[in-house]
Amino acid sequence: MKAVYTLEDLRAGLPVNEAGQELCLAVVGNPVEHSKSPQLHQAALEQAGVAGFYGRLHLEAGELAQAFALGRSLGMLGMNVTVPHKHEAMAACDRLDESAEFLGAVNTVCFTPEGLVGYNTDGGGLSLAVAEAFSQSLNDFEVTILGAGGGAGAAVAAQCAIEGVKSLHLVNRSMDKLAILQQHLSVLPVEAAADVDISNHSFADTDLPEVLAKSSLIINATSLGLNSDDALPCDLASIDASNQCYYDMVYQPDLTPWLQQAQSRGAKIADGLTMLLHQGALAFKLFTHKQPDIELMRRSLYTK
Ligand code: NDP
Repeated sequence: MKAVYTLEDLRAGLPVNEAGQELCLAVVGNPVEHSKSPQLHQAALEQAGVAGFYGRLHLEAGELAQAFALGRSLGMLGMNVTVPHKHEAMAACDRLDESAEFLGAVNTVCFTPEGLVGYNTDGGGLSLAVAEAFSQSLNDFEVTILGAGGGAGAAVAAQCAIEGVKSLHLVNRSMDKLAILQQHLSVLPVEAAADVDISNHSFADTDLPEVLAKSSLIINATSLGLNSDDALPCDLASIDASNQCYYDMVYQPDLTPWLQQAQSRGAKIADGLTMLLHQGALAFKLFTHKQPDIELMRRSLYTK
């Protein structure tokens, strides 16, 4: 089995691994070589008795429609989609589930007899991860999302609105992205979303410390924390975090410096691996129509 396949590989036929299994699922991205999705899904496939293996597919912009069509014609079940292809995947689908329409991006494409159906399990994954980590549902929280204008941040903001959080504070470096997001959120055809009070902020806003202090759940959806020399998404030095929950969507083997600071201020914390786990489990069920063993997936994710 190759570490990463390409469109050329698919054109040559369905890839087969050393065990003689055919590729049945793949994560597509660029870069994609570090994706943890294969280790998340492979054990679940074996336990569910689904033949085939889960691989990585490196695609350039403009290649998704072809890759999906080829994968479907070769009998694959579907593909997960990661950075930077979640919007191109949306355009390449024949039909979008509500989750994709509402969250504005596709991270899961099922190859069905009727065509390509796009879903978004990132929002549902975050919701399950928060409930698991903090023993409270999303709608119990007053939420601040740092990096709400990014792809994943916007999806999570829509999930918060759909679930009717107490209030929603959106923070982003580029304010034009927040204006677009707020327009999208204002027309979501979901009753709970209409009642959510939403405010937009830049990182430089003088009232940001006040907004952070009154929030009960603060989510980092910026990419800050991926590299060891990154700045903190925001400084918590002046905040009493003892009644707050902090969720960092960045997933690293170690706690990010931002989560370490939140913990030292007394907060409950959780890292992005749990969101990765739950979005993957939701996608697995869509692909296979079988409920995966979450604990098996969790062990595979954490031990390799
Ligand atoms: P995007 O590139 O779409 O968005 C990046 C976000 O980070 C934007 O809001 C961007 O602001 C902000 N940002 C980047 N650099 C800075 C900076 N120096 N100062 C302030 N803000 C900054 O990425 P994604 O939305 O796809 O991913 C964001 C993070 O979420 C990544 O770490 C990713 O790994 C993680 N993620 C985790 C998942 C999980 O399952 N745990 C699932 C999906 C994503 P601006 O708009 O101004 O550029």
